[in-house]
Amino acid sequence: MYDVVISGAGPSGSRCAEIIAEAGYKVALIEKDTNWRKPCGGAVSARIMSKYYPQLKKLNPHKFGGAILFSGDYHKIEYSWEKLFADTIIVDRLEFDTFIRNIAIEKGAELYDKNISFDFVVKDQKRIGIKTKTPSGIKEYLGKIIIIADGMSSKLAVKSGLRERWKVENLGLAKCAIMEGENNLDKRRMYLFFREYKGYGWIFPIGENRYNIGCGTFAEDNLKYNLNQIFEDFLNDPHIKQFFPKSNYKKIWVGSYPLSAKGVLEKSLCGDNIMIIGDAAGFVSPISGEGIHPSIVSGQIAAEAAIQALQTDDISNRTLKYYKNHKYIKKMIRNFKLKRSMVEFFYEKQGVNLDAMFQLAEKNVDFRNEVINMFFFNAAPSKDFFSKIKNLEG
Ligand SMILES: Cc1cc2nc3c(=O)[nH]c(=O)nc-3n(C[C@H](O)[C@H](O)[C@H](O)COP(=O)(O)OP(=O)(O)OC[C@H]3O[C@@H](n4cnc5c(N)ncnc54)[C@H](O)[C@@H]3O)c2cc1C
Repeated sequence: MYDVVISGAGPSGSRCAEIIAEAGYKVALIEKDTNWRKPCGGAVSARIMSKYYPQLKKLNPHKFGGAILFSGDYHKIEYSWEKLFADTIIVDRLEFDTFIRNIAIEKGAELYDKNISFDFVVKDQKRIGIKTKTPSGIKEYLGKIIIIADGMSSKLAVKSGLRERWKVENLGLAKCAIMEGENNLDKRRMYLFFREYKGYGWIFPIGENRYNIGCGTFAEDNLKYNLNQIFEDFLNDPHIKQFFPKSNYKKIWVGSYPLSAKGVLEKSLCGDNIMIIGDAAGFVSPISGEGIHPSIVSGQIAAEAAIQALQTDDISNRTLKYYKNHKYIKKMIRNFKLKRSMVEFFYEKQGVNLDAMFQLAEKNVDFRNEVINMFFFNAAPSKDFFSKIKNLEG
């Protein structure tokens, strides 16, 4: 019998397992496949290294000191944060996930690889564990507290009754590749390209010749556009090709995956002896698609809630709701709501407002600063922000 059973050993599950195991509790960390490289841009906020994983310095990850944002009609906003805060890093997800999972194992979490969790073990109408499919048959892992961290396609999150199955209109769908070849990219910059559809593309240099390139749609545009087609169109767009003057580029790896674009429903985060964290709960920022940092924060706070519950011997929602009531969780939920509310405005009439925003930012320094504060510092737009854009259009 474990104190805590966690389904999914990605960033959220591994962080959660590490903190609970470090506090001396018995943790089972269940993972479908430790050799899986999660399809991801791999850009991670500097806070991950300064606050959560100083050990990452050992990996010597590639760093960015700024970003170049392009509108659908290729107006641009460049912003450098070199002097303000530490650099954003870019990670290879297979390397990163393995690295932080191993930290959890070092702290005492017991990893069960090649286990696909598919249901709860139920006794006297209470969830007392997780059932998994393994190459050697069905297994059961019993625990006082169950934590669901198995990402976007989590079956357990739906079976828990805490949230419904997400509809395709509430998701993002993205495809990306790690590629290699000579290029003209500024290696200290991340490149983001808003598109005329709801979605964006990116190029993140990973070193001298390597880069992560990808794009995706979200909301109802998932149904209107074919992901493979927009990915090919993105690679072949002359504005993108200008960075890649040679004819041969090596595809090291390619993958596609959904991500949540709806934000987090606070009431879906916990119940008696259960919590949902990371992507499985929707901790991905709408518009930017940033989910690694939010997932790790949710894993950390859920771990603190679990420790309190085990210490006080009260594993009910009364104690676990510390997680959903935590100020960082509330702040992220508020911020996701704000971003989501701006989506409709930005992408109205195939991104016409986004294009106008970039044009205005190119001309007006104060407005440019406001856009930067919104995108990079999560500031709320001022009252006349939207009317300024509309006026330009009119
Ligand atoms: C194409 C794409 C690009 C992205 N780019 C970025 C980016 O640049 N920066 C950023 O911050 N975020 C990005 N994100 C979001 C980010 O990838 C996620 O928010 C983050 O990985 C969430 O971590 P997690 O641990 O909650 O879930 P995951 O990383 O999905 O981990 C879930 C784990 O559970 C395991 N699992 C799944 N099902 C089962 C099961 N049934 N049983 C047992 N184990 C299971 C999986 O193998 C995996 O290890 C991107 C997402 C996509 C799809």
